[in-house]
Amino acid sequence: MSELARLPGWLWWLLAIGIMVLVGLIVVFAFWPRSSAPMIDSSEGLRIHPLYLGPSNAYLIETEQGLILVDAGLPGYSDAILRKLRQLGRDDLRLIYITHAHVDHYGSAAAIQRATGAPIAVHEADVENMETGATELGTVRDWEWLSRTLLPWVQPALKVEPTAPDVVLREGDRLDKYGLAATVVHTPGHTPGSTTLITDGGVAVVGDLISGAGGPHAQRSYADDWVELAESLQRVQQQAPDVVFAGHGRTSIYGAAFAALSPYLPGEVTPEP
Ligand SMILES: [Zn+2]
Ligand SMILES: [Zn+2]
Repeated sequence: MSELARLPGWLWWLLAIGIMVLVGLIVVFAFWPRSSAPMIDSSEGLRIHPLYLGPSNAYLIETEQGLILVDAGLPGYSDAILRKLRQLGRDDLRLIYITHAHVDHYGSAAAIQRATGAPIAVHEADVENMETGATELGTVRDWEWLSRTLLPWVQPALKVEPTAPDVVLREGDRLDKYGLAATVVHTPGHTPGSTTLITDGGVAVVGDLISGAGGPHAQRSYADDWVELAESLQRVQQQAPDVVFAGHGRTSIYGAAFAALSPYLPGEVTPEP
């Protein structure tokens, strides 16, 4: 019999309650929205405001002509995004640009649209999933099979809102009419309709093409098509952006670090059931 087994019952209860409170605090801390100081790109006169919305990131790109929101976080984060707009003293959100149809990127888009009237944009190949409130994870690597297994249970709890886009994006589209000198680059692989927004001054917002969580790395968890994903990463690397913002991980990634990333190729992939 170990010493532990001789602990009195009330102490076990105290320990259990302590652990539950700790886990609760960690979850609240992880999901609490935060924003950080703007990353200023003086050559273009842009201000990029990262919004850390729990597990995923969104970005407000501010120009004199207006603002573009890139991605919108999980459902329930619209207040945090609207609060940031109020802090900036701006009411001219001109576009809600969704990098791909995963709920951690479009979840609050419909609510933001109701509050601001801004149109929602997504690539044509991801329209159907967003319109039906779906999230297709494709094939997964390593332990990510767990999130695919849990997703059907998590999704109803999140109350995912079917989100119909107003603007259907295609390769090479320009965003000038929304006040931003930038091009849409179709970067399929993570999802069929994943896109990267690249400004003329060399700022790229890449969604889940790469991740900054735990250090910059190519997408290694989920892909609709791993070969396409590798090709998409190489295409954006060839454009040599100066700074890259990803959908996860609270960091910006500078050109040299981005150029050095290697794609994950098929192999060790858990097939779809
Ligand atoms: Zn994703
Ligand atoms: Zn994501």
